[in-house]
Amino acid sequence: MKFEITTYGNPVLKKKAVPVGKIDDSIKQLARDMLDTMYSSNGLGLAAEQVGHTESICVIDLPASMDVDDVTKQRSNPDVKMPIIMLNPVIDKMEGVQVGQEGCLSFPEIFVTIKRAAKVEVRFKDLSGKDAVLAVSGLLARTVQHEVDHLNGMLLVNRMSPVQKLSNAGKLKKLKKDNKK
Ligand SMILES: [Zn+2]
Repeated sequence: MKFEITTYGNPVLKKKAVPVGKIDDSIKQLARDMLDTMYSSNGLGLAAEQVGHTESICVIDLPASMDVDDVTKQRSNPDVKMPIIMLNPVIDKMEGVQVGQEGCLSFPEIFVTIKRAAKVEVRFKDLSGKDAVLAVSGLLARTVQHEVDHLNGMLLVNRMSPVQKLSNAGKLKKLKKDNKK
């Protein structure tokens, strides 16, 4: 099943996700439906709030062709299997800085330059309930930080500079207005 993606102005996006306890069929179905929704929207990642849920779940699928370092042209994370389904993810370590373009399915047509850590270590439970840790870099590290932000109720707009907010004010206002209908 595909969900409709919630957009800026929908109050669910500001909610802090609730940790998943028991991994039952409804959680597994939610993860599958989130993957379907992400693929059909051509997103690299999706968090529960973006489909109107508040369970601490996010999904990521970064195509190999995009997992390439700008400078070395080598794969950044060749050993990481896609898709990644993370329950209760927490970023434990952040290292370095990367500056790059970032978009969000909940902010259609808005792309802004955002500073993020270059490498992160994220701890989570996988869908079988096992504890997992991933150390990732590059665009994948950016995507992990973006999705974990969502689960904390932190949005792209909250990462924008005052100038970026100003230059996207029209689009932001329209999204908010569309959510009031
Ligand atoms: Zn997003």
